Amino acid sequence: MRTAESAQLIDVTGLEVLFGVLHERGYTIVGPTVRDGTVTMAELDSATQLPWGWSADTGPGHYRLRQRADGAGFAHCAGPQSVKNFLHPPRARLWSTDRTADGIIATGPEPPTKRYALVGVHPCDVAALAVLDRVLAHGEHPDPVYTARRDGVLVVTAECTEPGATCFCASMGTGPAATGGYDLALTELVDGGHRFLIRPGSPAGADLLARLPTRPASPVDVAAADTAVERAAVTMPRRMPDGSLPELIAANRESPHWADVASRCLTCGNCTMACPTCFCVSTTDVTDLTGEHTERWRQWDSCFSVDFSYVHGGPVRASGASRYRQWISHKLGTWHEQFGMSGCVGCGRCIAWCPAGIDITREAAALAAPTPAGEPS
Ligand code: SF4
Ligand code: SF4
Repeated sequence: MRTAESAQLIDVTGLEVLFGVLHERGYTIVGPTVRDGTVTMAELDSATQLPWGWSADTGPGHYRLRQRADGAGFAHCAGPQSVKNFLHPPRARLWSTDRTADGIIATGPEPPTKRYALVGVHPCDVAALAVLDRVLAHGEHPDPVYTARRDGVLVVTAECTEPGATCFCASMGTGPAATGGYDLALTELVDGGHRFLIRPGSPAGADLLARLPTRPASPVDVAAADTAVERAAVTMPRRMPDGSLPELIAANRESPHWADVASRCLTCGNCTMACPTCFCVSTTDVTDLTGEHTERWRQWDSCFSVDFSYVHGGPVRASGASRYRQWISHKLGTWHEQFGMSGCVGCGRCIAWCPAGIDITREAAALAAPTPAGEPS
């Protein structure tokens, strides 16, 4: 909680100390930085690589960096990549086998060589991490690649004080305030001096905080942080329709609206690649020319790919309409039945990175809008 009694402050220089302590403890730091015309997540050596003075303007099918005068480091909305890329990598070798004189020797996935500290992750992406944990770590069949990388990860969240035009985390209950799943939480304040309210969310976070050059926050600092996060929530321009999304989706299984979306959707799969919770993969077996060595690799795949639903004889979702319906139905509907939570955290990436500008909130709203006959569309 951002309470006046417990709140502490660090300055921008304190973040460099944080980076130093994390490096000293053997972490590889992943955080936002400006790269390839975006604010994206990457391995960072220094706090100077954070996106100081950069934001982004977003819209359906639109993302442009924008410079800002206040020098803020975390006032940017979701970029094209999330921490999914580091914990559930786009490509991974699952196993290999070698034929030897003693028989066939099988080797499992290579153990990770890095332990990540994820710094500057916005609350919607912390929520996405919880979704990946539920799917890939806490199910009946935990994924060894994910669990090995996830084990020991430290999370420093940065509360969102400036949502983008494509954000809707407030209506999904996943932001802009940090409510859990982190070790340390930062709230950036720029008016009246650049500083960060900082609070621990775990014993590991408290231990780390004790190593940082902090000073007590005043009630004015705490009130400013509360105001900044509340303002982010109320000014968030997009939202999901009210009511039960699983019921809305279930009631619209045969809606003509799916054909309408399909007339715009390129089935390119960009939305699923950018989404921090989409986890689908396919596998490929390869062998060398001798036939003595084989490997099984897996790579991200997408429910928008026609081959993804291939069952003996052909794909079961041959049309674009059926593939878009599958994606949004799983995200907003059947994910609840399967995993007890939503598959969407409202980060807005699928809206900004869709080349056709298709907007999941507008498509859900279109399903919710009553037709002239008073029935769902
Ligand atoms: S909704 Fe957009 S990003 Fe997703 S598959 Fe269709 S065109 Fe591509
Ligand atoms: S469906 Fe879109 S808004 Fe929801 S979590 Fe995925 S990318 Fe973000």
